[in-house]
Amino acid sequence: MRRLSRRSFLASSAAVLTAAPAFAAPRPAPEVPRSGWVDAVIVGAGAAGIAAGRRLAAARKQFVVLEAADQVGGRCITDTKTFGIPYDRGAHWIYAADINPLAKLAVQSGLDIYAAPPGQRVRIGRRYARESEMEDFLSSLVRANVAIADAARKSDVACTQVLPKDLGEWRPTIEFVLGPYGCSKELADVSTADLSRSGERDNSAFCRQGFGALLAKLAAPLPLLLATPVKTIEWWSRARIEVDTPKGQFKTGAVIITVSTNVLTSGKIKLAPDLPKRQLDAAAKLKLGSRDHVALELTGNLFGLRADELVFEKSESRQTAAIFGNMAGSTICVVDVGGSFGRDLSAKGEAAMIDFAINWLGGLYGTDMKSAVKRRHATRWNNEPWVLGAISAAAPGAQSSRKVLAEPLSGRIFLAGEATHETLWGTVNGAWESGERAADAVVKLLGGPSKRS
Ligand SMILES: Cc1cc2nc3c(=O)[nH]c(=O)nc-3n(C[C@H](O)[C@H](O)[C@H](O)COP(=O)(O)OP(=O)(O)OC[C@H]3O[C@@H](n4cnc5c(N)ncnc54)[C@H](O)[C@@H]3O)c2cc1C
Repeated sequence: MRRLSRRSFLASSAAVLTAAPAFAAPRPAPEVPRSGWVDAVIVGAGAAGIAAGRRLAAARKQFVVLEAADQVGGRCITDTKTFGIPYDRGAHWIYAADINPLAKLAVQSGLDIYAAPPGQRVRIGRRYARESEMEDFLSSLVRANVAIADAARKSDVACTQVLPKDLGEWRPTIEFVLGPYGCSKELADVSTADLSRSGERDNSAFCRQGFGALLAKLAAPLPLLLATPVKTIEWWSRARIEVDTPKGQFKTGAVIITVSTNVLTSGKIKLAPDLPKRQLDAAAKLKLGSRDHVALELTGNLFGLRADELVFEKSESRQTAAIFGNMAGSTICVVDVGGSFGRDLSAKGEAAMIDFAINWLGGLYGTDMKSAVKRRHATRWNNEPWVLGAISAAAPGAQSSRKVLAEPLSGRIFLAGEATHETLWGTVNGAWESGERAADAVVKLLGGPSKRS
């Protein structure tokens, strides 16, 4: 989730790291247990699962990471095939790079990090907003954020309920920026407490090789089985939990579950006994919204944008989007759709998403786009079977659900993942921290180094 503020619009980018030290010496591939006893099982190899695995490896525990998909990364994967250059299908922004552990790890891993350009622009019809119009927009955005934060101190209600009444013609744009773009849901479906507690995300950066490529590199030394969906977790006994996959059964003393809230509530993993109602309810209140990228390779820099420039439209309707122009200096332009409009559009399929993006851009820039688009691609995160959505903005009144979701089951099953982070939800670094937190709890539970290591 990217929280925009006056500061983030105006501030110049942070001094972010570029050069990298030499690659660390490659570690030998770990021996991966295929069944039987392990100290711990990690379910899912997205950011949270990878972070948990690295923590358990550092504590010399014997464990396995089980991943349902045929690649690691979850909602943070880099595709190098579609356009021949790195294209992040999910997360791309490394928020708050000056304090984000992933930025440091990227440098340590020999990858290149560069700062996101300062500021964003707003398109008004066929022109960009003038300075005075930007000032007006930004001050309205600040007032909206302040109203949400003020309201959150008294009670946890829907963000739309507390927006200032005088946002005038900027209201739909502000609702898009804070809602579908920032939270993947309409503001009417987002808790004031959740939005106001999510930290500022200034000073962003990008990984030249791709954010997903970074996660894949960080996962490489882990004992990990791909294409191995967990079907059942039996936790009747405190001493021995049984984890079943189509490829074999593991017996273990601790489990870290990192799957998304939509997967958790879908019934794809059967817990026996069931996940307590309290936690199922919490997951339901943290269900994922919708957000997708429509990426178009253009014949040139048709819109005169700088590399990695972010543009919003001064919109009058929900049928709007954000533009991420000239990705990493290429001619790839990414149109981001989200919220209920994005969900309906994605349900119509990739062709409809691409049509929307082409027509919308053509209208905004007065450009005939017919022969201007070469390769193209649209993500459909709601249809990814092991993810089922985008990010977990809390429903009105449900900010406290994050704490409930993270409560351990019988002191041995730990839930992690972006939805369990109280302030960094909806981000890779939030997922990462949650995975480390769960792994620390497992290390504490298991005591010293593994007897079997
Ligand atoms: C379009 C989009 C743009 C985003 N942009 C940004 C951004 O710019 N910056 C940012 O910081 N964040 C961004 N995010 C959010 C970020 O991607 C997520 O918060 C983060 O990646 C979530 O990590 P996670 O480990 O919690 O969950 P996931 O990434 O969902 O990982 C869970 C893993 O569990 C696996 N799994 C599911 N079921 C099973 C099973 N039964 N058995 C075994 N494995 C299973 C899944 O395959 C998956 O790999 C974006 C998200 C989306 C969708």
